[in-house]
Amino acid sequence: MKTRKAIFLDRDGTLILDKNYLSRVEDMEYFPDTMKALQLLQQLGFELFIVTNQSGVGRGYFALESVYVIHRQLQNDLRAQKLSPFKDFAVCPHSPDEGCECRKPSGKMITDFIEKYNLSAEHCWMIGDKLIDAEAGKNAGIKSAIVRHHESKDFPYFKTLLDFALSLKK
Ligand SMILES: [Mg+2]
Ligand SMILES: [Zn+2]
Repeated sequence: MKTRKAIFLDRDGTLILDKNYLSRVEDMEYFPDTMKALQLLQQLGFELFIVTNQSGVGRGYFALESVYVIHRQLQNDLRAQKLSPFKDFAVCPHSPDEGCECRKPSGKMITDFIEKYNLSAEHCWMIGDKLIDAEAGKNAGIKSAIVRHHESKDFPYFKTLLDFALSLKK
């Protein structure tokens, strides 16, 4: 049976700059290493997914549609770089006080993808810039690492997403 391995990526602060409730596609800005990192991860055979908390929707700051506009732009930008688009996006639009099941650090958005796409959990990673991302991975039973912000000694840390991708090449 073919191994289906995936990287689940946080969006804000991991792929693009965290603009604190980003809602306008014009304000989207990539980290310098993002495309190179994604390219390397795809070359290594990983499917790429985005798993993002967007509580700005639940808080009434912006509509879910503006999240989708940003995600369409991400797909266009990947294609423009001759990369495969992201396989799928999971968005938790709820505010923390809604007590939903999906908001990270819950592992639900990840486990749903593992089931839906029949992925091999032992070969999957969750990568984000916050401790809640790594905890979501742990709660989903997969490996996790934190990039960009050194928040916890409990998880592997990489200065950039590219550093993480390079570590898998070894
Ligand atoms: Mg983040
Ligand atoms: Zn939710």
